[in-house]
Amino acid sequence: MRPQAFLFDMDGVLFHGDRALPGAGDFLEAIQGLPHAFVTNNPILTPEQVAGKLERMGLPRPDPRFVLTSAEATAAWLALEKPCFRYFAVGADGLHRALAERGVSDPQAAEFVVVGEGPGLDYATLSVGINLILKKGARLVVTNPDLTVDAVCGGEHCVLPGGGALVAPFAAATGVQPVVIGKPAPGLFLMALERLARPARACVMVGDRPDTDIAGAAALGMMTALVRTGRFQPGEPWPAGVPRPLWDLASLGALAEALERSWPGLLSDRSQLPRCRV
Ligand SMILES: [Mg+2]
Repeated sequence: MRPQAFLFDMDGVLFHGDRALPGAGDFLEAIQGLPHAFVTNNPILTPEQVAGKLERMGLPRPDPRFVLTSAEATAAWLALEKPCFRYFAVGADGLHRALAERGVSDPQAAEFVVVGEGPGLDYATLSVGINLILKKGARLVVTNPDLTVDAVCGGEHCVLPGGGALVAPFAAATGVQPVVIGKPAPGLFLMALERLARPARACVMVGDRPDTDIAGAAALGMMTALVRTGRFQPGEPWPAGVPRPLWDLASLGALAEALERSWPGLLSDRSQLPRCRV
């Protein structure tokens, strides 16, 4: 089926740290006539901050409505579970802001202990969280399952703890397993598909991780494209148990060529209204 819309993971697909990857700008420019959205397991930045980050790197600035983070997906899930939910959050600004739009922070009587990437975990916050879970019956939720995330520290590649690692002390202390939002769970993808107003089978998910980007999108029936510019490198064998993507390529440039071969004119088709450019 001719693709009608694109979803992009960001880190490892469009940029590393604060540097755009080669070909990312050209690819995004080429699809400005097609609906597209950005889906990231990283809950640290707000959609507005992500849009600004892309612009500072020289990439087209997206409409923040089409930037979906795991913090947004977590807040949406909580609101469905319990309208006006009360929460205790441990994580970065992006998580606190997303939750505050739909719920009420209440460290004394939270119904949900929500853990995300970024600063916030220490002896005091862990103590508050485990007491809410053990004494008040609060549910444990984490924004994303990644154990580690790649980052740039002082100009060099470094590894930082991901949501899956940061929630582990809460799970260990309480014996309670967290509800996990973020890819490969469907919530983040479904939010993006709803905003794009396109069926899953007409959309292409472009990602750099087989276990989250590809597995999650394939489970929903989306077309999938893996670019080996991030965590998963050229030559690495495909992991067992993960469905193969439609395209498994070295870069976004190679993906653009493959798409043009299959659907000539797709990437320069301006007939559809640009929806995602401000
Ligand atoms: Mg990635």
